[in-house]
Amino acid sequence: MTEHVDVVIVGAGLSGIGAAHHLQDAFPQRSYAILEARETSGGTWDLFRYPGVRSDSDMHTLGYRFRPWVAAEAIADGPAILGYIRDTAADAGIDKRIRYGHKVIRASWSSADARWTVEFEHGGVRSQLTCSFLYVCSGYYRYDRGFTPEFDGIEDFRGQLVHPQQWPEDLDYAGKRVVVIGSGATAVTLVPAMAEKAARVTMLQRSPTYIMSLPSVDAVATRLRELLGPRRAYAITRWKNVAVGTLIYQLSQRRPAMMRKFIRGQTVKQLPAGYDVDTHFNPVYDPWDQRLCLVPDADLFKAIRAGKADVVTDRIEKFTPTGLRLESGAELAADIVVTATGLDMLAFGGMTLEVDGRTVELPETMAYKGMMLSGVPNFAFTIGYTNASWTLKADLVAEFVCRMLRHLDRNGYSHFTPWPDPAVTPAPLMDFQAGYVLRAIDRFPKAGSRAPWRLGMNYAQDVLTLRHGRIEDGTVRFAHRTAVPEREKLPWSS
Ligand SMILES: Cc1cc2nc3c(=O)[nH]c(=O)nc-3n(C[C@H](O)[C@H](O)[C@H](O)COP(=O)(O)OP(=O)(O)OC[C@H]3O[C@@H](n4cnc5c(N)ncnc54)[C@H](O)[C@@H]3O)c2cc1C
Repeated sequence: MTEHVDVVIVGAGLSGIGAAHHLQDAFPQRSYAILEARETSGGTWDLFRYPGVRSDSDMHTLGYRFRPWVAAEAIADGPAILGYIRDTAADAGIDKRIRYGHKVIRASWSSADARWTVEFEHGGVRSQLTCSFLYVCSGYYRYDRGFTPEFDGIEDFRGQLVHPQQWPEDLDYAGKRVVVIGSGATAVTLVPAMAEKAARVTMLQRSPTYIMSLPSVDAVATRLRELLGPRRAYAITRWKNVAVGTLIYQLSQRRPAMMRKFIRGQTVKQLPAGYDVDTHFNPVYDPWDQRLCLVPDADLFKAIRAGKADVVTDRIEKFTPTGLRLESGAELAADIVVTATGLDMLAFGGMTLEVDGRTVELPETMAYKGMMLSGVPNFAFTIGYTNASWTLKADLVAEFVCRMLRHLDRNGYSHFTPWPDPAVTPAPLMDFQAGYVLRAIDRFPKAGSRAPWRLGMNYAQDVLTLRHGRIEDGTVRFAHRTAVPEREKLPWSS
């Protein structure tokens, strides 16, 4: 007998545990299981262990809506976030529902049975279980390796080469010369953290990124907590931060020249007089065309001011036995080179989807409300915002899934399918120019040119549509178990 549960959640990271919390709150009687490929929970916040690892968005929006973030720090370190996720799971008994070491390989939907058959690998053995609803919270990147570009001569380098995704626990960088290749959130975190012990840390970037400093402790949040208690203070601070984030994003989109000038002005103030801000901190693209990096208490700029870190903007010609030769002709000596060159994006943890015997070609599907797939019944996934904290969207996805399940119950339906609309023009699922997105986005589902397929990038608007919008919107088809599978041609090949 194959085991059956009402819902399978794939992934026990921030999203999967949040999804389980919403689900068991809304439907205490429903059965569910979380299948997690790794032997631990926490996903990203357990995997990444490089020095200084931390959030680069505030915890009042990266935290769950249902669980106040009560620590003083608004920008938290990796272990604190991991603790928050695991405490959430333990306090609600969610940890008992996690099946570790269960890597999902394939899921096949049968319209006749109104069920998914989920195939997973556990201890080298393939097994399966069935569920009525499949909820994928597998993050958005490969876990087994990060992205490293091909560098000429890399095999000649006699120092140590490290990728932040596989940080050696015992890496001793005290007194060493370190070069960090990259300019994203990971690089700007690593540089000041390593500068505390290293002889010198150089951030080597091909092109600059916008970097803004944020106080690590939110004074308003602290005061509100004293006055109103943690729960009400959290709700207000969350909305305050949503409002500030939305304002910065909207101004960046509508008044890019003004925002560029503003960020540049702030950067100049943080750096020594005469520092070449335009070469190292004034990107060619407009603010928020790529993710804007936040640094707590200007730590990166402080490390530069203290002479412990520097930034070099140049291109790598090749690795040499002792470091790097740059296209300008300069040489950078290094004992350790950290390739903070990004993630390798992967849709749905690499699992294959099938519907009624046909393989779902993800690029031929369209994401309904950024969380369900055209032509794929009883299925949802979580991919967070790129212009705001991930969890804002993850919570809304979970709330919408619960609304959908309730709608099925109330009307005696067994399943629903967002139905593709050929009149809608496809658009990228992440409207974002970062290299790691551009490299992989063709392998992901598409978004569409208009609602409900258009990519929602505005939390307040999503609250209205996902929490309060109509469920029967003419796009989603509902069916009873007895119904024969729809005969219309779905937009993917067999
Ligand atoms: C270094 C770093 C810093 C970040 N900082 C921020 C930030 O400050 N703010 C922000 O909003 N976002 C940030 N992000 C994005 C971040 O990934 C999300 O905030 C959030 O942690 C994603 O949670 P998740 O549960 O959706 O995915 P993950 O954390 O990636 O967890 C996914 C889980 O699914 C499991 N899984 C994957 N595939 C399978 C499979 N086939 N079968 C079974 N299990 C599977 C994985 O093992 C993992 O445990 C950051 C990302 C990184 C890499």
